[in-house]
Amino acid sequence: MDAYDPQSPLAQRSILAYSSALVGCLALLGVLCFHFPDLLTSRDFRQAYTEEFARNLMLVGLVAAFAMGTFAILRGRNAKVALVGVGSATLAVLLGGATVHFEPIEQTPYSLGLDWFVISLFFSALVFIPIERMLGKHKQLTLRAEWRTDIAYYFVSHVLVQFILIAVTASTSTIASIATLPTVTEAVRSLPVWAQFLLAVFCADLFQAGLHRLYHNVPLLWRLHAIHHSSRHMDWLAGSRIHFIEIILTRSAVLIPLVCLGFAQPAVNAYVILVGLQAVLAHANLGIRFGWLEYLLVLPRYHHWHHARDRAYVDANYAIHLPVVDMLMGTFKLPKDGSFPTEYGVLKPETVPQGLVAQQLAPFVGKW
Ligand SMILES: [Zn+2]
Ligand SMILES: [Zn+2]
Repeated sequence: MDAYDPQSPLAQRSILAYSSALVGCLALLGVLCFHFPDLLTSRDFRQAYTEEFARNLMLVGLVAAFAMGTFAILRGRNAKVALVGVGSATLAVLLGGATVHFEPIEQTPYSLGLDWFVISLFFSALVFIPIERMLGKHKQLTLRAEWRTDIAYYFVSHVLVQFILIAVTASTSTIASIATLPTVTEAVRSLPVWAQFLLAVFCADLFQAGLHRLYHNVPLLWRLHAIHHSSRHMDWLAGSRIHFIEIILTRSAVLIPLVCLGFAQPAVNAYVILVGLQAVLAHANLGIRFGWLEYLLVLPRYHHWHHARDRAYVDANYAIHLPVVDMLMGTFKLPKDGSFPTEYGVLKPETVPQGLVAQQLAPFVGKW
């Protein structure tokens, strides 16, 4: 890992200026969502929030971008970056801000999930950046090396969410229509929803971990998965770096058993929310010791060891929810002294190029 020097100009970057730039740009994208909701907002995610919530959030974002940006400019700290924040927020206000009027949203066959990107990035940054700065295990920059690559992954995977869902639904429903098991389905459906949820998490993790082990041991699959392991820094954003074919393959492989076994929709929905939260948390730069809980749930230290640039850990900790899955597979490995890896990434970093486009192409053209 690169050495962190608190006196370097990079470490002295103004958090207010950069926060203003982030929030200002998100507000600008948010206004575009208000203007073109049919095209830019995701039909599925729109159900999760109200128009009033979106307008209030926009108002808060605009005020925050102006206040933080102005303060940074007055203090002469990263004034150019702060100007990006104030400028974007001004443009967002000129384009109508939180008061844009829009007609009832028409159903379009395809739409982008720009609202999903804006809202989830805003809240993830709001929660994780302060926590990682206060409780981070590794002293590192918030905008560490290759953050642009990971934010690009975050952007594309959120904005294209509907297309990913379409691909996953197509593959799962085709297989589920062939492989239904009526007696098992009946037994699963007779359970209360909370028990179905726990069973769904266990089944999904078992399938995920099995496939994950294949990704590590089948050379052709490793080409895809190496992209995820190429991150040299662990933080809440690092987990976004996944090859798009891997996203579709893994989500399908995990959802197929859930659909075939007949879990009720609320149990599957709760599982989908958990996987989103736990995937971000598992990569986060968090040094908190969780004691015995680390053996019950996959927490940062557990998954960090999976990402360790250490030959002894190349075949360990495949689970993303429950360490018991690795215990059953014989791949559980966690140092008892509470230590974290000192270096992350693939053993041969030269095999994975930098940047989203090059990484998407790498499995097909790179030298392996
Ligand atoms: Zn892996
Ligand atoms: Zn990971």
